[in-house]
Amino acid sequence: MSGPIQDPDLRCENERFARIEAREGRTTEVGGMPVARVLPTKGRRTVGAWCFVDLMGPADAEEPDPMEVGPHPHIGLSTVTWLLEGEALHSDSLGTQQPIRPGQLNLMTAGHGIAHAELAAEPPFRGVQMWIAQPEATRHGDARFDHLAELPEVELAGLRGMVLVGQLGEARSEARTDTPLLGADLTLDRGQVGVPTDPAFEHCVVPLDGRVKVGEDILEPGWLGLLPVGIDEVPVAAETDATRLLLLGGEPLGEKVSMWWNFVARDQDEITQAYRDWEERTDRFDEVPSDLERIEAPRPPWLPGRD
Ligand code: MN
Repeated sequence: MSGPIQDPDLRCENERFARIEAREGRTTEVGGMPVARVLPTKGRRTVGAWCFVDLMGPADAEEPDPMEVGPHPHIGLSTVTWLLEGEALHSDSLGTQQPIRPGQLNLMTAGHGIAHAELAAEPPFRGVQMWIAQPEATRHGDARFDHLAELPEVELAGLRGMVLVGQLGEARSEARTDTPLLGADLTLDRGQVGVPTDPAFEHCVVPLDGRVKVGEDILEPGWLGLLPVGIDEVPVAAETDATRLLLLGGEPLGEKVSMWWNFVARDQDEITQAYRDWEERTDRFDEVPSDLERIEAPRPPWLPGRD
């Protein structure tokens, strides 16, 4: 297990598509938890600046094993840890120690570099880990951590929910965004709704609880619905009340990102540098106040054999 971005994820490049498309995620494991990785996916590296979406858990009921992700580095991205059930503790190299609970936004921005650890309390534990690629303008900047204990609520015909980032209807999140972005956790009543959206954005729908029809495709949790730019209403339908999904979107990033392990960059040289900085413990990444074991970076496959 070589960390979040693995070989299959590397083969996902952005392809043009004109209509709504459905993709099945792939299952893997992170920090002892089963995950369904829905982004990157075949033909799609980014949706807006969203570049990574993992559905985590639930933990195995027979052998409950709480998520433990020891200190590891990030560059060039913001992480969103969005809990559905349970509680976790976030620790980072800025000195932050923040309990993470359902309904609260925790946005960690790496810039030039940050390191963090995440430890879940006892099961039940279930959540979503998302990454947002930073644009050229901010990706070399300072790291920061933002905790928003309360998020704006949105209520539209046939749905209600919370806006994590960006704006939906009249509800606007205070969370920082480096590019125009939307992230919302929505609960649908049974039936069809059109979620009003910005036609300059591309979007994806991530079902969380229950099946969701997106356009003509019926998606189970673990699947992704992709919607191209130019759509001003996202057509979603639920078979039962209390069907929950994430709606993510944004203006196409317009920058080709290169991802490896926990790094988001623009080319292999930048990733090699970040790998070396972590391995050699340079001052790019400060210490994380955590008792968990530090995670060593896998050697990038493009580097020649050990010297
Ligand atoms: Mn991380």
